Amino acid sequence: MSYEDLRTWAEIDLARLDENYREIRRVLPEGCRFAGLCKANAYGHGIEAVGRRLEALGAEYIAVSCYSEALELRSAGIRSNILILAPSPAVLAPAIAELGCTQSIGDAAAAAAASERMKGTGRSLECHLKLETGMGRTGFDVMDSVELNAAAKALSLPGLEFTGVFTHFAVSDEPESDFTLRQFGRFNGALEQLEHITGKKPGIRHCANSGAVVNFRQTAMDMVRPGLLLYGLYPGAERGGMDLKPVMSVKTRVAELTQHRAGDTISYGRIYTCERDMRLAVIPIGYADGLHRSLSGRFSVSINGRRARQVGRICMDMCMIDVTELPDVRVGDVVTVFGDSPTADELGGRAGTIAYELLCAVSPRVARIYLNE
Ligand SMILES: *Cc1c(COP(=O)(O)O)cnc(C)c1O
Repeated sequence: MSYEDLRTWAEIDLARLDENYREIRRVLPEGCRFAGLCKANAYGHGIEAVGRRLEALGAEYIAVSCYSEALELRSAGIRSNILILAPSPAVLAPAIAELGCTQSIGDAAAAAAASERMKGTGRSLECHLKLETGMGRTGFDVMDSVELNAAAKALSLPGLEFTGVFTHFAVSDEPESDFTLRQFGRFNGALEQLEHITGKKPGIRHCANSGAVVNFRQTAMDMVRPGLLLYGLYPGAERGGMDLKPVMSVKTRVAELTQHRAGDTISYGRIYTCERDMRLAVIPIGYADGLHRSLSGRFSVSINGRRARQVGRICMDMCMIDVTELPDVRVGDVVTVFGDSPTADELGGRAGTIAYELLCAVSPRVARIYLNE
């Protein structure tokens, strides 16, 4: 591809999204539903394009974090089931119901407030009950009988219609930890108790994120909620028998070539000194594009099938790479910052963070180019 007018762009290969979706489905139990994660602008890939694709693929749910993301999907004409995973302000309950989306409810006050807000609207808000089993985040704490009883009470509040129940794992990316199965045990115990108290089935039961799909597939239950896997990356070292490919590649183009003498210093802070006479390439990507400044001097990019290390501080809009050993590099040559090589995973490691954060960090200034739309 050429895109000669673009400064820096992210290629989003939707055929790879399809393949990853099918590859994940292939390893799931028969009949297991699929909630495709589209929070945070679909992990930076573009919520509309990914949402549309998931709908076309037949994903039973699209999961987002908040109302504004659900609204974006509906405004794009997406009619799938949408689950809002994080708590929403009670004032939004009628608007969420109006959009026909499902709200996660994880505490008694939120349940009561949402129920109150639904009064007189003539509708009910579809909800999934969130149970806290060890993530230490949202949800009715299943280790506390008072909270479990409160959860049971929430299930019968007027104006709320519960169609599912879920929990979230803290360390499912660590296959050697027994904590995920402890959480799963607590979840199952709570489901039994809730059924005993209310005399009703809980609806769709789900807990597996990407890590659990890879390492603890026995937790798939009625639905899984993978995010990272869909985008072709793995949360840990294990592959879980799946062959996934990165959907996003961030690319830029050599903007200028510069010549330097041994002893010259490069960029803000003068943290890099040329060891010898050097030829550098300026590439128009910086921390305002999502390339973390903490990566300064710690990574390399791909150019014409070779690696070139980045030198000096990453600036807001540019950084420099060493092409002294690559004399064939010309202005306009395409540079891969991450994608197939290096991967977002490799770069995340070098930044002291995870691939997730790098994907989400790709800023709106970076044009999204959809392949195989
Ligand atoms: C983000 C999120 C997921 C998906 O996590 P991955 O590790 O990307 O698979 C699943 N469930 C909840 C509640 C989440 O917040």
